[in-house]
Amino acid sequence: MEKTLVLIKPDAFGSNHTGDILKMYEDAGFKIVAAKVMQMTESLAAKHYAEHIGRPYYPSLVEFMTSAPIMALVLSGEDVIKKVRALNGATNPVEAAEGTIRKLYAESKSKNAVHASDSPESAAREIPIFFSACEIFD
Ligand code: ADP
Ligand code: MG
Repeated sequence: MEKTLVLIKPDAFGSNHTGDILKMYEDAGFKIVAAKVMQMTESLAAKHYAEHIGRPYYPSLVEFMTSAPIMALVLSGEDVIKKVRALNGATNPVEAAEGTIRKLYAESKSKNAVHASDSPESAAREIPIFFSACEIFD
């Protein structure tokens, strides 16, 4: 079954929206096959956000992502990569569709509640950054 990496970012985790967000993923039929609460380090953020290094927002992105605990998840299901991106909504909550996680819980383009892998290649690269094979129960 297809898998994707999800991060519940410091804003949504810290404001107690984790349960609401997990419910949306579960109600959509996806299985949580790995989960942990953790705090990202600068080096982990650099690995995860490698393609963003050098962008103007990169320093504030790393500062935000390392500022407080997050929940990292692997979700499994049919077409989970594309469907979770749709459930999350557009990067900028102002542009996110009604009913999406970012419309409901994100406060800005930088503090935008959730991350999800954007392609099978990204999922294959991102999942092992956060989880070893023995932590994934699929
Ligand atoms: P997504 O998370 O929707 O895949 P991107 O891959 O474009 O979005 O960007 C990764 C993350 O970097 C975003 O979720 C957001 O937290 C941050 N980010 C991207 N672009 C900007 C921007 N212009 N200003 C502030 N933060 C940004
Ligand atoms: Mg992205």
